[in-house]
Amino acid sequence: MFEYLLNKEQKKLRQEARDFVKSIPRQMILDMDADRIQFPKTFLREAGKLNLMGCRYPVEWGGRNMDWVSTCMVMEEIGMLGYIFACIFGVGAELVCDAIILHGNDEQKEKYVKPLLKGELFAAECLTEPRGGSDFFGTTTVAEDKGEYFLLNGQKRFIVGGEGADYFLVYARTDPDNEPHKSISCFIVDRTDGVRSEYLYGLMGCRGGGAARLVFEDVKVPKANLLGELNQGIAIFNTMMIPERLGTAAMTIGAANPAVDIATGYTSKRKAFGQPIADFQGVSFQVAEAVMLLDASRSVIYSTARAVDEQIDGKQIRRMISQSKKFVTESCQKAVHHALQVMGGIGYTNIYPVERIFRDLRLASIWTGTNEVMSMIIANEWYKEYWANKKTETIRDMEPVAAEAGAKDEKIFE
Ligand SMILES: Cc1cc2nc3c(=O)[nH]c(=O)nc-3n(C[C@H](O)[C@H](O)[C@H](O)COP(=O)(O)OP(=O)(O)OC[C@H]3O[C@@H](n4cnc5c(N)ncnc54)[C@H](O)[C@@H]3O)c2cc1C
Repeated sequence: MFEYLLNKEQKKLRQEARDFVKSIPRQMILDMDADRIQFPKTFLREAGKLNLMGCRYPVEWGGRNMDWVSTCMVMEEIGMLGYIFACIFGVGAELVCDAIILHGNDEQKEKYVKPLLKGELFAAECLTEPRGGSDFFGTTTVAEDKGEYFLLNGQKRFIVGGEGADYFLVYARTDPDNEPHKSISCFIVDRTDGVRSEYLYGLMGCRGGGAARLVFEDVKVPKANLLGELNQGIAIFNTMMIPERLGTAAMTIGAANPAVDIATGYTSKRKAFGQPIADFQGVSFQVAEAVMLLDASRSVIYSTARAVDEQIDGKQIRRMISQSKKFVTESCQKAVHHALQVMGGIGYTNIYPVERIFRDLRLASIWTGTNEVMSMIIANEWYKEYWANKKTETIRDMEPVAAEAGAKDEKIFE
């Protein structure tokens, strides 16, 4: 994180996050990667005791009244422990609670946000279905209005905390005859009868998060657990995409950082042809590229975080968030690729954690919306913005500034 962007309060919070990161036992990190631990509640309990989660929420609900810049900074620091730690830290406190803070009523905040931020309750977010994740509006999970409750039936896949969470934020169709944008609702679902974790995935990386397939079979969801308006799940989905994608991107930087650090130290000490390999430009330029990619990622993240704090135009935010997610995750993957490359064979072994970081970060461009979906959003928003800008004509039109600009017969478009 760039020092000059932080005020005193943020620096203090960063130090608290760093101290917490230092306190996590080495064995816990190894046990998670070996799938010996699923969903480490002790980690979240400790984070809750230290009031590190949800710092941007109002104090009355357990936050610190801080902002998005502070949130990204905390996510970056927690990411240092490993991508899955930041994910577990974020999924309940930064995603699920964000939805309840923005769209829930006071009873829901009291019951579900406060204890979660204290580390006493755990939550998971359920969007993806076995049928597909990219096409969110194709949701097939249904919640039928039965008068006193909703009857929930369906499945969700790859849910971090599927094993371990106490409650779930679930999107389900409540008006199957209506168009998708007007027929999905969002529910807070307790782990009660009819909620089962069916399948625990064998993952390439990011292990230990309890990623499971969840089955909801005739689950009675009380009416009080509808979040926001009936059939207006889209409003929640839209605001959730900010923590989902901005937070994911910020934590990717933190997760990639140790690989670049380790590679810097290694290449300074390791010798070949009688000299440190960092003296070869083929090596030091790769490290330079990696450092540049991490700092460029920080620039993108913190300017986007600032834009969210300033509440600039929602459509532009949508594009900035998607750009941040795509740019940062791909840049960090490249940075880790360089780190591993300059370490030669030893980088490919578990003598150093670089191989684990490499495996973990492969997920970054897949989850919370694939990077292809990010490109789709960027393109959509950009074309709309382009034509809107054309109408205002506040900037000079450079198209006529070409020697043959008037050659109308050459400007053929179809
Ligand atoms: C370890 C892990 C943890 C996860 N945690 C959670 C979680 O906690 N909660 C949750 O809800 N989900 C979670 N996910 C799910 C994740 O968000 C989805 O896997 C992701 O959104 C992609 O969905 P999919 O796997 O169904 O792929 P699909 O949607 O089937 O996509 C397959 C491929 O097709 C491409 N594609 C699809 N549509 C288009 C298009 N229109 N244009 C171009 N390309 C397209 C995709 O980019 C992708 O490359 C997790 C996944 C993993 C692996």
